[in-house]
Amino acid sequence: MIDTIKRISGVNPRKCMKCGKCTASCPAFDRMQFHPHQFVDMVENGRIDELMNSEGIDFCLSCFACVERCPRNVEPAKVIEAVRLAVIRQQGGAHLTPDEIPALLDDELPQQAITAAFRKYRK
Ligand code: SF4
Ligand code: SF4
Repeated sequence: MIDTIKRISGVNPRKCMKCGKCTASCPAFDRMQFHPHQFVDMVENGRIDELMNSEGIDFCLSCFACVERCPRNVEPAKVIEAVRLAVIRQQGGAHLTPDEIPALLDDELPQQAITAAFRKYRK
C-alpha cells in the first residue's frame, strides 16, 4: 500500500525535514487526528492503515497552504488526497456512473469538477 500511496500522490516523503510548517499553516489541523507533517512521516514509515482508519481526513480542504509553505516541496496535501482515494477504492464499487452525470450538471459547475469526481469515485 505504501507504494500505491507514493504512486498516486507523486510525493517523496523522504524529502521531509520535519519542520512542521505544513501543520502550522493548515486551517484544518485541529480537526484531523493526524496532522499534515504526521501524514508525511507515517507514509514514510509505512503506517498507511492507521492513516486510512484515522478520523478527520475528510476535513482537509485541499487549500494547498501546506504545499505553499513547505520548504522542501514535499506537498503534504497530495499525500492526504492519495490516502482518501485509497479509502474510497478500498470501499469498492463505482460511486458515480455516467447515467448520474446529467442530473449533476448546472451552469455554475465547472466541467473539471465532474471530470475530477468521475476519476475519483469511479472504480
Ligand atoms: S491542503 Fe489540507 S492539509 Fe494542506 S493546509 Fe490545506 S487543509 Fe491543511
Ligand atoms: S513543511 Fe514540508 S518539510 Fe516541513 S514538515 Fe511539512 S512536509 Fe516536512
